Amino acid sequence: MTKYVYRFGGGVSDGGQGDKNLLGGKGANLDGMASIGLPVPPGFTITTEMCTRYYDDGEVFPESLREEVANGIAHIEGVTGKKFGDVADPLLVSVRSGARVSMPGMMDTVLNLGLNDETVTGLVAASGDARFAWDSYRRFIQMYSDVVLELDHGSFEEALEIAKEDKGFTLDTELSAEDLQALVSTYKKLVEEQWGKPFPQDVNDQLWGAVGAVFGSWQSERAKVYRRLNDIPGGWGTAVNVQAMVFGNMGDTSATGVAFTRDPATGERAYYGEFLINAQGEDVVAGIRTPQYLTRQARERAGAKPASMEEAMPETYVELARVFDLLETHYRDMQDIEFTVERGKLWMLQTRSGKRTAKAALKIAVDMANEGLITEAEAVARVDAAALDQLLHPTLDPKAPRDVLTKGLPASPGAASGQVVFDADTAERLAEMGEAVILVRVETSPEDIHGMHAAKGILTARGGMTSHAAVVARGMGRPCVSGAGSLAIDSKAKTMRIGSREVKEGDIITIDGASGEVMFGSVATVQPELAGDFGTLMVWADKVRRLKVRTNAETPADCRTAREFGAEGIGLCRTEHMFFDAARITAVRQMILADSEKGRRAALDKLLPEQRKDFAEIFEVMAGLPVTIRLLDPPLHEFLPHQESEFAEVAQAAGVSVDELKRRANELHEFNPMLGHRGCRLGVTYPEIYEMQARAIFEAACDIAEKSGAAPIPEVMVPLVATKRELELMKDVIDTTAKAVFAEKGRTIDYLVGTMIELPRAALKAGEIAEVGAFFSFGTNDLTQTTLGVSRDDAGRFLTTYVDKGIFPRDPFVSIDVEGVGQLIELAAERGRATRPDIKLGICGEHGGDPASIAFCEQTGLDYVSASPYRVPIARLAAAQAALKAR
Ligand code: PEP
Ligand code: MG
Repeated sequence: MTKYVYRFGGGVSDGGQGDKNLLGGKGANLDGMASIGLPVPPGFTITTEMCTRYYDDGEVFPESLREEVANGIAHIEGVTGKKFGDVADPLLVSVRSGARVSMPGMMDTVLNLGLNDETVTGLVAASGDARFAWDSYRRFIQMYSDVVLELDHGSFEEALEIAKEDKGFTLDTELSAEDLQALVSTYKKLVEEQWGKPFPQDVNDQLWGAVGAVFGSWQSERAKVYRRLNDIPGGWGTAVNVQAMVFGNMGDTSATGVAFTRDPATGERAYYGEFLINAQGEDVVAGIRTPQYLTRQARERAGAKPASMEEAMPETYVELARVFDLLETHYRDMQDIEFTVERGKLWMLQTRSGKRTAKAALKIAVDMANEGLITEAEAVARVDAAALDQLLHPTLDPKAPRDVLTKGLPASPGAASGQVVFDADTAERLAEMGEAVILVRVETSPEDIHGMHAAKGILTARGGMTSHAAVVARGMGRPCVSGAGSLAIDSKAKTMRIGSREVKEGDIITIDGASGEVMFGSVATVQPELAGDFGTLMVWADKVRRLKVRTNAETPADCRTAREFGAEGIGLCRTEHMFFDAARITAVRQMILADSEKGRRAALDKLLPEQRKDFAEIFEVMAGLPVTIRLLDPPLHEFLPHQESEFAEVAQAAGVSVDELKRRANELHEFNPMLGHRGCRLGVTYPEIYEMQARAIFEAACDIAEKSGAAPIPEVMVPLVATKRELELMKDVIDTTAKAVFAEKGRTIDYLVGTMIELPRAALKAGEIAEVGAFFSFGTNDLTQTTLGVSRDDAGRFLTTYVDKGIFPRDPFVSIDVEGVGQLIELAAERGRATRPDIKLGICGEHGGDPASIAFCEQTGLDYVSASPYRVPIARLAAAQAALKAR
């Protein structure tokens, strides 16, 4: 027969081996604390398996459970020497929920259970405190009516308020025993009116009612929502903990409190917590009375007057501090604790691993490893890699007030305040004058790059997590909120509306790229600290990591940032990002709009020296490291002129009429540019473009080898390949150019030619493509777009609904769709390796900076991941954690 009840306390333990899955987090740790000799009120846990069975059986309890629960109560009676329902000296119990992981405030609790019209008089006699006894009964009726009987909570609150008003009191504590006794009568009348029956007097009925209510609260609406938001399976169920009550409200030698063994905000090794004298647990959370500090140091720091626990109850405090140390040693982590002091005796009511900020997580992990409490590898495994983001960018001061206008997607972390501007040129102009600006666009395009660079932050109304704005902002380390759908932007009038509010150019707003919030006005920020602990953890991570970490970067400044963050090469240099410079755009446009090879070559000749300079700078910064340069990729329309003045400029440079130019621009219009004339299709139709780029790469490489003696390692990458033949043609252009340059320069440089895998066909035909390409880089932005048939720039509008409805577990543009896109990657890796065992495999889509996707890359045995500069440390830590998991 399955055992559903596990006892703890008073030297008895039914084991369960601290099994959180079976006993829930609270139950497992109550048993754990009791087992190491800490003062835990005796009790028992009804398992999570019972909860599951309860629902399977149609919300009824099996007969056998009654006997097990009766034994559990007998155990508590044995240890406490009190009897449940005893008129002379009654045993009172608490009934609390406790799932595998804590779901704070989501499920139900009943305290002081076991009181009725008779036992309350026993409690008066046994405690010698009539006020305490009647207050406990009043609290019990109120809680039970709310949680178990589901009566109108407000009417009980109201009755309490009236009782106080009648006497001219403001505090509950001013009510006398007689007042409370009268209030109990009022409460009982309320129950009868609303429930149609008198308040249950049988203590066993009370107990079963409470147990049923706790199991019932597992399926409450708020618990379901919480589970959905936190990925907690509904099948887990909750346990129920029934435990002898101890009282923190038995006078001035009693107290109740909550504590952390280290500071959960900073990680500092100092006890941190609050307590209240003469109070019960819910008073601390209810916020009616202001709790006092635990330690004298904390009280003094805060400049507070009321005595700390260290000062008010010195002996109990010393005992509590000893318990903190024992718990940390036992659980080997920072603990979040609830305790009660009953007439000078300390009781532990709960312990669990405490929630903490990213900063505290880092400090606690490194400190604990240095203290010898955990290993370096455990420290590495404990810090949430994604949360490192919080440490690498300025973040909003959590204490600062905010006036939230709207919320979009948290596209690039960090917080920024500045004047609203609606176009890139104004952004640049104001930034040059030293103004902080936030660039607000419906969506951004490569033409906005200079404005994005000049801005402190970027806000768009459209676009998802891999939209242009998001990708570029992450690369630059600029905070960005994208896809804020409720923004109505009028670029001409230079205003935007959000609901009934209007924001004009020049108004100050603040964006939080970590939460997606957009706020009116300036909100104070706090600067990141990359000091000691961060560096230490990175060193430990690098010791266990297998995957290499590269960066996606195309400016020397970004390359430098990435190297400082530990990048081991460039995994993706998007050359089109280099074409938007004001000095080049006219030549680029001339190249695109030319209708003959001759016209194109004339423009390319102007671009060659510029590109050579770009590559030389990057090779210099990345000395000795591999640099993957991708040949021109994006759809041509992105480069086309829009304004009259732009047409005029290009017409003059190319020596053709404006009308002629406009006709050509019209011809280039595409209905679906993402699937249009882009990627290697450009190189196939206009090989001279790739020829110019290859020449610039090899000339720069030779020049740098000449200058510094250290030859760079160029990896020339061809985008959007679908067939072996495309790559063959492009490789031929690259090799021929290399040969020519090496002959001219009188030296050779080692280089590789490879391809991106961005199309399902390329993944399927990877075996053949590997006959030509020496490396594959998975472009998972496009591979996700093309495999799912979902436009990466339009996905924002409906993907959230898809995630809410569980169609995808997470946004597939953020975290790899392992089952679909992942399968194509595995298959391509396998087929590529079968052809070319030493083929180099990497990933350079945005997923390269996402910890879950990095874990997938580790499993698939890729050689490296490539992430935007500010995500390099995240990738290093995530790669280390994935390697540890694989051990
Ligand atoms: C990709 O498609 O994943 C990729 C890295 O290329 P881009 O984002 O430039 O299209
Ligand atoms: Mg791509």
